[in-house]
Amino acid sequence: MNNNNVIIKINNLKKIYSIGNIKVNALNRIDLEVKKGEFVSIMGPSGSGKSTLMNIIGCLDTPTSGLYLLDNQDVSKLRDNSLAEIRNKKIGFVFQTFNLLSKSNIIDNVDLPLIYSKNKLTKTKKELIHEVILSLGLEGRQRHKPSELSGGQRQRVAIARALVNNPAIILADEPTGNLDSHTGEEIMAIFQDLNEHGRTIFIVTHELDIAKHTKRIIYLKDGMVINEERINNPISANKVLKDMPHLEKRIEELEENTIDEKNN
Ligand code: ADP
Ligand code: MG
Repeated sequence: MNNNNVIIKINNLKKIYSIGNIKVNALNRIDLEVKKGEFVSIMGPSGSGKSTLMNIIGCLDTPTSGLYLLDNQDVSKLRDNSLAEIRNKKIGFVFQTFNLLSKSNIIDNVDLPLIYSKNKLTKTKKELIHEVILSLGLEGRQRHKPSELSGGQRQRVAIARALVNNPAIILADEPTGNLDSHTGEEIMAIFQDLNEHGRTIFIVTHELDIAKHTKRIIYLKDGMVINEERINNPISANKVLKDMPHLEKRIEELEENTIDEKNN
């Protein structure tokens, strides 16, 4: 069988945490195959194993048993150093709370994965960082620190950082969880655009509305995949944005109206 298109292959994967004598089956017999270019979301109640699965897929952790092939390489039994190397090369992470270095400007934040990278670069680091910052609409803000940016801008810096190493997969744990709905939609528009250009993306979300922007939803419960759904017509974030008034603009309008009312 030709597996060249498969980026994630997981077979009978288990993760058991032991706390004293108690064993927690955080993941129980997971089978999962993801092809290059897919856009997948994981949904499930708190404690269902979403983060555990993301951590294993992202090579932050290893399974107790079972198989995990990442880009045709068995990573299920790798030790910390090799795991870290693969993680840096293949995975770009985006988090709910952005996880940026607060004392560093945008350039230095985006540079971070390159410092540890062993990937061969086709451009100079400076060119690469500049390009990815521009592609996320952050021009003119290169020297700004995270505290000088809005939530949406911070998340775009985090996406720039995730992309700079040209990873095979982007993993995002609740990437819109800390954002208002307009800004969340903007972030989903970026993910959809990246996916249309061939990037494989995996997100965890609590919101079905967000999951419906992806092409495939995997439902977890008690560490097991209980359902799977293909989304034939994902919600287009750009379309939603067209019809959705911007929150700040809405507030301005409301304020103008109140002033008008007062004046009348
Ligand atoms: P979710 O992200 O869906 O909320 P998690 O993957 O964080 O779920 O957790 C799945 C289960 O594994 C839960 O029962 C949780 O309590 C348990 N668990 C997660 N991490 C640990 C850990 N480091 N030690 C012990 N139990 C853990
Ligand atoms: Mg979690």
